[in-house]
Order: sequence, then C-alpha cells, then structure tokens
Amino acid sequence: MPKLATSDPQIASLIKQEEKRQQENIDLIPSENHTSKAVREALGSVLTDKYSEGYPKKRYYQGNRVVDKVEILAQERAKKLFDVPYVNVQPYSGSPANLAIYLATCTPQKDKIMGLKLAFGGHLTHGQPQSSTGQFFKSVLYELGKDGLLDYEACEKLALKEKPKVIVCGYTAYPRIIDFKRFGKIADKVGAYLLADISHITGLVIAGVHPSPVPYAHIVMTTTHKTLRGPRGAMIMVTEKGLKKDPNLPKKIDSAIIPGLQGGPHDHQTAAIAVALREAQSKLFKTYGEQIVKNAKALASALIEFGFDLTSGGTDNHLILIDLQNKKVNGAIAAIALETAGIVVNKNGVPFDPMPPFYPSGIRIGTPAATTRGMREKEMTKIAAWINQVIEEVKGEKLPEDKEKRSDFMKLFKTRVVKNKNLLAIAKEVRAFCSKFPIP
Ligand SMILES: *Cc1c(COP(=O)(O)O)cnc(C)c1O
Repeated sequence: MPKLATSDPQIASLIKQEEKRQQENIDLIPSENHTSKAVREALGSVLTDKYSEGYPKKRYYQGNRVVDKVEILAQERAKKLFDVPYVNVQPYSGSPANLAIYLATCTPQKDKIMGLKLAFGGHLTHGQPQSSTGQFFKSVLYELGKDGLLDYEACEKLALKEKPKVIVCGYTAYPRIIDFKRFGKIADKVGAYLLADISHITGLVIAGVHPSPVPYAHIVMTTTHKTLRGPRGAMIMVTEKGLKKDPNLPKKIDSAIIPGLQGGPHDHQTAAIAVALREAQSKLFKTYGEQIVKNAKALASALIEFGFDLTSGGTDNHLILIDLQNKKVNGAIAAIALETAGIVVNKNGVPFDPMPPFYPSGIRIGTPAATTRGMREKEMTKIAAWINQVIEEVKGEKLPEDKEKRSDFMKLFKTRVVKNKNLLAIAKEVRAFCSKFPIP
C-alpha cells in the first residue's frame, strides 16, 4: 500500500499490524475467513464512489451503466449457484438482511417470528428481545433438546401453538446437520414462511457437504463473508416454493431493502460478492468445502481423545462447541489464554449453560479460515494438542463465585497471562507453524 503508507502512516501501520496478527495466529473463529486478493481488489475499487439507489435499470441516480452490469452479474451468479429464481444482493450485512425479510413478511407488533434462543445458538436477529427484530415484532423462541440437538417435535408443537408468521432455522453455534425438510413440513403445517439463515454454512451447501434448504424453505438468507469467503455483506433469496406461496415476495423484499431500510447499495461490495461467487463455482471451492468438514471431524476426534466434552458429541459441519465444565475452566479464561498462545477462538455459551453470556462455560471453534490457509487433518491434530496444553495450563484459574469480583479478577488474569512462559512458548511454535500457511 505505497500510497497509504505516505498519506496516512498511522492507518497503514495498523493494517500491517493486523496482517501480521492474522499471519501469525490460527484463526478458529467459525464465522471468519480469509478472502482472496481478487475479492479485496474489487472491494478496494472505484466502485465505492458510486451512488445507485434502486435496482439495475431502475435507478434513482444517473451514471449506472457499469454498476448495473456488476449487480446483474452478481445476481446471475448467485441464482445459478443456489438454483433460485430471485436474489437481492444489496443487504449491507446479515443483520439488516434479516430485518428486511421480516419487514417484507410481517406486520410490526402483530406477527410472530419463531427462532432459536440466543443462548442455544440462535442469532440476535432471530427475534431475541435484545434485538429490534424481537422488539418491532412479536417473537417466540425455541430451545435445543437435552442432548444438544434440535428437537423437531418440540418445534412443531410450539409452532402449532404460537402460529408464527416466520420460522427461522439456521444458527451460529450448531455443530450438526439441519433437517430443512422437516422444518419445511412444520412451516407448511402452520402456514408460516420458512426462513433458512445459512450464513454459517453457505460454503458447505455450495460444496454439497450440507443439504441445501432451497427445496424446502421459502426464503434463504446468507451472509457473504463466512464460509462463502467473500466481502462482508449478505444476500436474500426467494425459492420456487417461496414464489408459489407469494408471487409478490421478491417485490416486497426489494422494497424492504430500499426504501424500507437502506439507501444506496455498496457497489464495491456487490462486485466483491460477484468475485466470491465466481470463485465458489470452481472445483477448488468444492474441495475446500469438503476439507472444512474433514478438518472439523479430525479436530473433534483429537479433542475427544484429550477428554474434551463436545456438545452433541461431535460435529457434522465446520464448527465445534466445547463445553469446558468438566475441565473446570471458564470459557472467558480459556479464550484469553488461547489467544496468548496464538489460537483465536470465541468464548461461547453451551446448551443449558448455568453461566451468563459474558462468562460462558464453553468455547466455539471452527475450521473455515484454517482450511483456506491449506491446513489439513494432520495440522488439526497438532492444533488440538496445543488447545489441550493451554487448557491444562490455566486449569487452576478459578473465576470468582462472587459476580462483583469477576471483572477485577479478569483484569489481573489478563496481565498475568501475557507473561506466562508456557503459553508464550506455544505462541512461538504457532508462529513457526503458521509461516508454512500464508494467508492469501
Ligand atoms: C453472522 C450471522 C448473521 C448476521 O450477520 P452480520 O453480518 O454480522 O450482521 C445472521 N445470522 C446468522 C445465523 C449469522 O451467523
């Protein structure tokens, strides 16, 4: 970035530092990834200068001859890849996309959204009371079963009782295959729209290693920056089934995005989405998707051998949820210790977690970013061993029972942990290991 380095050395230096951090650490956050240079070139292009409120050939601004072509390409690629008749590629991100879907389908303060409770792996925008989606609309939230798995019968009962307008499936911390067909039947039985929010697993659906929701859902939403490996953004798709239920659904979604919720689309983002979608059409992408799951399974079985308790007993997808209660380490402590050792994860609640979200009992890890860097099963075994070493190292750290004392304890722990010789030794090994797997 020769220009930036002279015009704004502070920001240039911070970007360099972030690049170094990404290169020297193993990113196990399941919602993150490393984009290709091509995606980032499109994202950093002059398209960011343009205003193009409206849709291709129906704009409120002049000068959109080129931008129209960009957006149409993005749409055509998405429709082909997912086999859907309609897509909107303009949502700024996943959260506004979900809000737009409810605006298009529900009457505020009247209609009900049914989603998975946040503490069980649902997203904020699935009708949680903390989110505008749970404040503007009524909502009812379902839970997982005692075994950490989706309880389809309980969902059906709840849907029959509550008569939601939209049922949401697709999650942020669910390590197993989702039975979209079953959810489709439940939605049909109560006349609800089925929204499949496949933000986390899109790349797996494209690669054919997770069933597609397209035959069963009316609406499919996905972010573009997780397993799809594009820029931040989102897409809303309507399926043939959705068109049959309501032929005006595409129009309603278009209007919900603009003028309902957004102004001008981010054309540079649209172009970068188009680039990511083209990359996703390749054979290499299929191999990548398959490897994500192979890696997650390898990581899971190595962790189980070290005595880790994985919710639902393992994984079918890109993600693993570790319940650390048997290891007597809090998730917040584990996440900080792991970061010190060069392994970046999320602290995360586990099903029926007795602890609050800020000090949850578990951690959430995933393999997409590591897989992008070329790591395979062998490397996963190595990573599992490091995770085990780190957890053993901080086993004695007890989060105070007294809630008032927790924040002070964490402050002290953070100053202590960055000096821990054993963790720093692991970080050094991780750095050397990472140098063999350059980020794109
Ligand atoms: C990430 C995610 C979103 C929201 O995406 P943002 O781009 O962070 O707003 C919505 N739903 C699910 C299931 C997600 O995983």
